Amino acid sequence: MFCPKCRTQYIENVKECSDCKVPLIKELPEERPIEKVKWVALPPVKGNIYANMVEEVLQKKNIPHFTKSDWFSTAYSLSGANYLGARSVIFVPEEHHEEAVQLIEELVGEK
Ligand SMILES: [Zn+2]
Repeated sequence: MFCPKCRTQYIENVKECSDCKVPLIKELPEERPIEKVKWVALPPVKGNIYANMVEEVLQKKNIPHFTKSDWFSTAYSLSGANYLGARSVIFVPEEHHEEAVQLIEELVGEK
């Protein structure tokens, strides 16, 4: 028998935790594993200036993120000369992806 509160193990005939005064349970529920964050890449932004701007906005909105620079040129063996500066790919947790994409569209989608 276990106490659900302090997780102390008791012998079978004990029905209540002597410390917490709560009824004991047969088995402790499994501890919830720390939820793994699923990182999703945002649409690549042109140049580090945009990347910095996006990071700034994400920071302001308290959206966790990390940036991988030159991901495109590395992944596709492209020469960086074809691009206006390096391409940066910003990753955000899946649950923030939609919000982040909207923020970038507002940022980059100036007409
Ligand atoms: Zn207890």
